[in-house]
Amino acid sequence: MNPWDTHEVHNQVDELTDVNLLSADPALRAALERAGAQAWLPQLHGYAQQLGTRHTWELARLANQHGPALQRFDARGRVIDAVEFHPAWHALMAMYRAQGLISLPFDNVQPGRWSAWAAGFYLHGQVEQGTLCPATMTTAAIPLLRKEAALWQALQAPLFSHAYDAADAPIAVKKSVWLGMGMTEKQGGSDVRANTTMATPIGAGGRGAAYLLRGHKWFFSAPTSDAHLVVARVGEEGGHACFWVPRWRPDGTRNAVRIQRLKDKMGNRSNASSEVEFEDAYGVLMGEEGRGIPTIIEMASMTRLNCVLGSAAILRTATVQALSYARQRQVFGKPLAQQPLMRSVLLDLALESEAAMQMGMRLAQAFELESDPLQRAWKRILTPAAKFWVCKRAVACTAEAMEVLGGNGYVESSVLARLLREAPVNSIWEGSGNIMCLDVLRAMAKEPEAAALLLQDLQQQALQAPLLQKALQDLTQMLRQPPALQEAHARHTVQQLVLVAQACLLRSHAPQEVADAFIATRLGTSASGWVVGAIAAAQQTDIQAILERALPTVKRT
Ligand SMILES: Cc1cc2nc3c(=O)[nH]c(=O)nc-3n(C[C@H](O)[C@H](O)[C@H](O)COP(=O)(O)OP(=O)(O)OC[C@H]3O[C@@H](n4cnc5c(N)ncnc54)[C@H](O)[C@@H]3O)c2cc1C
Repeated sequence: MNPWDTHEVHNQVDELTDVNLLSADPALRAALERAGAQAWLPQLHGYAQQLGTRHTWELARLANQHGPALQRFDARGRVIDAVEFHPAWHALMAMYRAQGLISLPFDNVQPGRWSAWAAGFYLHGQVEQGTLCPATMTTAAIPLLRKEAALWQALQAPLFSHAYDAADAPIAVKKSVWLGMGMTEKQGGSDVRANTTMATPIGAGGRGAAYLLRGHKWFFSAPTSDAHLVVARVGEEGGHACFWVPRWRPDGTRNAVRIQRLKDKMGNRSNASSEVEFEDAYGVLMGEEGRGIPTIIEMASMTRLNCVLGSAAILRTATVQALSYARQRQVFGKPLAQQPLMRSVLLDLALESEAAMQMGMRLAQAFELESDPLQRAWKRILTPAAKFWVCKRAVACTAEAMEVLGGNGYVESSVLARLLREAPVNSIWEGSGNIMCLDVLRAMAKEPEAAALLLQDLQQQALQAPLLQKALQDLTQMLRQPPALQEAHARHTVQQLVLVAQACLLRSHAPQEVADAFIATRLGTSASGWVVGAIAAAQQTDIQAILERALPTVKRT
């Protein structure tokens, strides 16, 4: 020790880095194998290794510490509406792009592609979340663009490209593109029908024709993307339509999408979100006039899956960071992770994290196999349901994981602080919690055959599990309430639906101790309390086995 040091630093625990995020996650590996995604395992292992390094964690910290800055004008006063990012942002965007994850579900027909994509997204989200916003929107726009022949011809290659190209230039000269979506206006976000932005045809109008857009968007993320899909009203009497609004016009001039300012956000700080005005911006009609909302909702069905996977990723990082810390930090003579009460907290986190991941991966399979009616039912009903529940659980559990690190969790240099600021956004954007619950009820009412198929499937999986069967009966009762009550109780009903589905998934895909503990603490008489860890599972549960599964203590790199 140097003479000027007053003390030696000991019993301080570094964040868990230099871990292969896939090797450390047996449950995720099994989900990939189950889905037939073996062909992608070597690539995903490589990416998980890269993501887990201290270097990538540092990139994530830097990208969020030094957020984007708007440059409205160049040095001589010309409008450029540029956004400057830290180099770490570009490095993270390039990493994701290089994996081919932007187009993976759509650029091949191999079985398991959706699961491989979901795993890549989930792994990336364990380290950095802001970059997932443009990644999500770009991928989710692909199915819509494929229906527009002329646009698709120009866009397929740059959308499928693995080369990152951050240049602010017309698409024709770019190697690859990023896309965004613009729906939310000042007077209404959930109620997209309230949109007032007006589109006027330049000529005769119609699908594929050019329009001029005038109005605004109150939230417009990734504003310097190569294009956005924008909802606008066509004429005073017309309905809403969806438009392709590129950053550059076909004549090579910058499109009139003026960035007013960047949002000063509580989290999601690496990513730029803005307010914009369309000053007769150039746009191309996608789909039919009057069908804009169903068109953009098709995109949202995928972005909602991304919210589930993103929140599952937050839950995973929160859980493993807490677990790793608790195994090393000594209190009152033994590691935190051996203190009985802390074990209840860690157990609860581990159960929630695995249940979220299993749900996200199951939904990814449902997206891949949606031609089958049962898979379509899972996709249509459980995607919004899981978006509601998993995103909410991520907020509560991340706060609890932060507390596992004590004061160290609360300081900005801790990854937990960043995760906790990040977590709520997944619950708000792409349809907030209540909107998701109402969507579940709407889907079940509109497609009773799909609802019946889903409930039958859950019934089948609940056999020989009395608590689960009872929970299903309760759920069926809830679904029989009169419509006005159903709406008021929608959060309760959807929570029950997701818990039942997660319990079924764990029964099928996790060791019995995991499924039993989940059912006992979520659906049983010892059902979890108001806070994480307020559970009575200590006697019956093999906590050690569950925590080992969450983060094996063997060498992980
Ligand atoms: C960081 C960030 C980035 C974003 N980026 C984009 C973007 O790129 N493009 C884009 O279009 N939007 C974007 N959004 C906007 C986001 O999608 C909206 O904020 C969201 O859809 C909610 O709309 P709103 O803010 O207008 O709230 P409102 O629609 O006013 O809703 C307020 C609350 O009321 C609830 N509510 C609404 N209707 C009902 C009802 N019938 N019954 C019960 N409760 C109800 C909602 O669930 C919500 O909790 C972004 C938001 C954030 C925070």
